[in-house]
Amino acid sequence: VDTRELLLSRIRDVPDHPKPGVMFKDITPLLADPVAFAALTGAFAELCVRHGATKIVGLEARGFILAAPVAVSAQVGFVPVRKAGKLPGATLRQAYELEYGTAEIEIHAEDLTPGDRVLVIDDVLATGGTAEASLELIRRAGADVAGVAVLMELAFLDGRARLEQALRGAPLEAL
Ligand code: 5GP
Repeated sequence: VDTRELLLSRIRDVPDHPKPGVMFKDITPLLADPVAFAALTGAFAELCVRHGATKIVGLEARGFILAAPVAVSAQVGFVPVRKAGKLPGATLRQAYELEYGTAEIEIHAEDLTPGDRVLVIDDVLATGGTAEASLELIRRAGADVAGVAVLMELAFLDGRARLEQALRGAPLEAL
């Protein structure tokens, strides 16, 4: 079976979650299928190698689940980007705009070193705000951006356009 078809078949549409009018893309059926999860991990690992990544950043929370096996498979380090207030050490913090209000994310700056090339992994690119802020954190930590890789891009929200400047020519890959 074609990988794209397999992955698509394991994503469930949940209407009105987390609020009325939103069609939520639920990836838990994919995680529960070892063949699909392995295919996804393999595809992300290939991108990691192709774009010369030396570290993988996963975005809380589903990005952690997807990125960790990729890091092991590609033999590069894993670094979490978390919602503000969770990481125990010295952090860099970045605010970004939501539909209503703002959110903040953090990274342990010392887990990235100058010369690192970082691939950001998450499940869904929606408005692109989270990914954009993570690229800011990576550069502020002194590392380079190898690219952003997501399972799914919700094209109608135009996250790709919002990310374009922050990518500075680095690739955005949607599997
Ligand atoms: P953005 O910052 O691009 O607007 O939102 C992306 C973040 O929200 C990602 O971390 C992603 O996990 C989450 N997200 C937004 N919409 C969905 C969705 O429909 N399904 C899933 N699984 N995550 C979503």
